[in-house]
Amino acid sequence: MSAATGRLHEPLTRLLGARTANALAKMGLVTVDDLLRHYPRRYADPGQLTDMGKLQLGEHVSVHARVLQATVRPFANRGGARLEAVVTDGRHQLVLTFFAKHRGALRYHEEKLQPQASGVFSGVVGEFQGKRQLTHPDYLMVGGELDDDEAVLYQASLPIPIYPATASMATWKLQHCVRTVLDTLSEDDVPDPVPFEVLARAGLATRFEALLLVHKPTSPLDHARGRRRLRFEEAFVLQSALAQRRARAQAQDATARSPRPGGLRERFEAIAPFTLTEGQVSVGEDLAYDLAQPRPMQRLLQGEVGSGKTVVALRAMLQVIDAGGQAALLAPTEVLAAQHARTLAALLGPLAEGGLLGGDDDGTRVALLTGSLPAAARKRALLQAASGEAGIVVGTHALLGEHVQFADLGLVVVDEQHRFGVEQRDALRAKGRVAPHLLVMTATPIPRTVAMTVFGDLEVSSLTQVPAGRSGVQTVVVPADNPRWMERTWQRVREEVDGGHRAYVVCPRIHPDDPAGPGAAPAASPSEVDDADLVAESAPAGPGERPPLRAVLEVVEALRATPALAGLEIDVLHGQLAPADKDAAMTRFARGESQVLVSTTVVEVGVDVPEATVMVVFDADRFGLSQLHQLRGRVGRGTAPGLCLLVSTASPGTPAAARVEALAETTDGFRLAQLDLELRAEGDVLGAAQSGRTSGLRLLRVVKDADLIEEARRESAGVVAADPELSGHPALVAAIAATLDPDQEDFLERA
Ligand code: ADP
Ligand code: MG
Repeated sequence: MSAATGRLHEPLTRLLGARTANALAKMGLVTVDDLLRHYPRRYADPGQLTDMGKLQLGEHVSVHARVLQATVRPFANRGGARLEAVVTDGRHQLVLTFFAKHRGALRYHEEKLQPQASGVFSGVVGEFQGKRQLTHPDYLMVGGELDDDEAVLYQASLPIPIYPATASMATWKLQHCVRTVLDTLSEDDVPDPVPFEVLARAGLATRFEALLLVHKPTSPLDHARGRRRLRFEEAFVLQSALAQRRARAQAQDATARSPRPGGLRERFEAIAPFTLTEGQVSVGEDLAYDLAQPRPMQRLLQGEVGSGKTVVALRAMLQVIDAGGQAALLAPTEVLAAQHARTLAALLGPLAEGGLLGGDDDGTRVALLTGSLPAAARKRALLQAASGEAGIVVGTHALLGEHVQFADLGLVVVDEQHRFGVEQRDALRAKGRVAPHLLVMTATPIPRTVAMTVFGDLEVSSLTQVPAGRSGVQTVVVPADNPRWMERTWQRVREEVDGGHRAYVVCPRIHPDDPAGPGAAPAASPSEVDDADLVAESAPAGPGERPPLRAVLEVVEALRATPALAGLEIDVLHGQLAPADKDAAMTRFARGESQVLVSTTVVEVGVDVPEATVMVVFDADRFGLSQLHQLRGRVGRGTAPGLCLLVSTASPGTPAAARVEALAETTDGFRLAQLDLELRAEGDVLGAAQSGRTSGLRLLRVVKDADLIEEARRESAGVVAADPELSGHPALVAAIAATLDPDQEDFLERA
């Protein structure tokens, strides 16, 4: 450790004394650096008092208010006295109460709490005789503690940093500690992870200056500048880490898989049942080019639901097979893996019957490898993968098992990436002799800057069109408590089925007696569970009066007894069924042997039954927007128009109702993703795994700080290109290590 970083790693004990240091340690602040990173939550403008109308009983608050009056009242029959001060924000009042055994002991407060003086008062909000009060609050008068009149006036005009505080460590104590520590430091003590040239170009302060700006601002402009600079740093450190990851992957060798004229890919194109969309063609060109390079491709394909990503992936896989390699397709659930295997085999027709009678002579094979295969089938699939007989191996997490071997793995395709982490991708990639090419596909459109943050080590391609000839989906919100509408809902389902179509009915949970609904169902075997069952994500616990969530097993019984649906075959699908049963249910539905499928969100991801035209989603208001958009994408995939009926129990005007209505208004996934982010807390943006944990991001907001992220990405790419190991930037290396310590690396993974 260099002498320069030394000061920051110094424990707080020496500078602040053991008692204060211990109190700070309880807040997780042990070193000088920890304390300096404890940024103010906000700033009180001395000219502006806290709005006290919003104070909650029991809450620990720090309010900036003005004293109206202070009165000392001796107790009549006991000794002692009470001081009662009333403070105001101009509209509301708050009582401050101090007790003492002797009147004299209150004199100190009496002198400080002069009418018209303002200060910050901190304590737990209580109530006495119908009035909000703080008992024995800690406080600091603005402009106090300085003798010189001008200094008092000056200090009274400064913004007051309000720190995240605790009962034993009030915000001004923190402020005092931070200042004490900061005053002992100089520019040289605070190494800056952002290189000087970058700061100069971006017009940003140094790290030391920024700390002064946020902790000791002289104007609102100051702290805004300081915070912006610190946010840039967070973005820059993260983007540098990602740039290094990209560079390392790029530096690996890969086998170049050039297209082969007359190969399987061309022959597939000749028999493909449709013309590719423009987007499919142009993304296809990118992929064809990347695959022909001796460096591993690292590409993310974002595609609107139903935009036809599978065919794009298939063409890439065939190019690799034509060049002598194999492709692995990793799917998040067994249902989806099985479906992919079927779809690919069907699209390829005789081309997927290599070596079979009637099959194509130089055709290939599609193998399916999942955890639940019977032993014999599993052995066969393993053999086909290891021998190279199967050009395409489709599977779930089971593909990551160490006994799974490939003859020559050239391409890894990960479908619906949001459920896979970086480590899993890496585990699969490690199965190639040299690094295989990588294509990650996600149907959850995310804004560009989020993609840059979460998937920052990948190049991004997008498919925004859906193939022509689709009639789209009409979306209608159905109030759950309106029997007429509900009746009409089932009539519509009936009409669709009578017209030769099929219907999904989606519920948020499986058993009516699952206590907490989604997520409560015990997982049969963690690695193989259809985790789609566990995701009814943003279902907020909400006020207790909400009706219980609808469950598959209860709804299926009710539908079987519904007159409008009499005579229909109604099936169920959920994550607790044995894999073979899931597959059977899906197959029956795809063939039309059942016409109504009641399921959990297992159908969310990628299930493709073109005859399905109507979907009813129960408790739609309890799902996230992106998830509903995914669900809705399951209907309207054929030429007949789709209908999505969102049954909602949300009261009008609530955020939940707003979400559902947004969905009824637009089918643009990118727009919905943006909206979803706006309606959520920022912490959710990077995935549930991150929430509640500290990450490298304290100030950065991935959506709002889009411009900063773009700039940080550009600048970091330049720095890493010039110095891939960052040997000239020790402070940046240290910052990357601190941001991405092992605990936090899964922050990049996104649950
Ligand atoms: P997603 O991008 O959501 O994974 P899929 O790959 O499952 O979408 O494709 C959705 C449907 O569109 C499939 O039935 C597929 O066969 C069909 N499809 C794909 N490309 C085209 C095209 N160019 N023209 C018509 N249909 C297409
Ligand atoms: Mg798909």
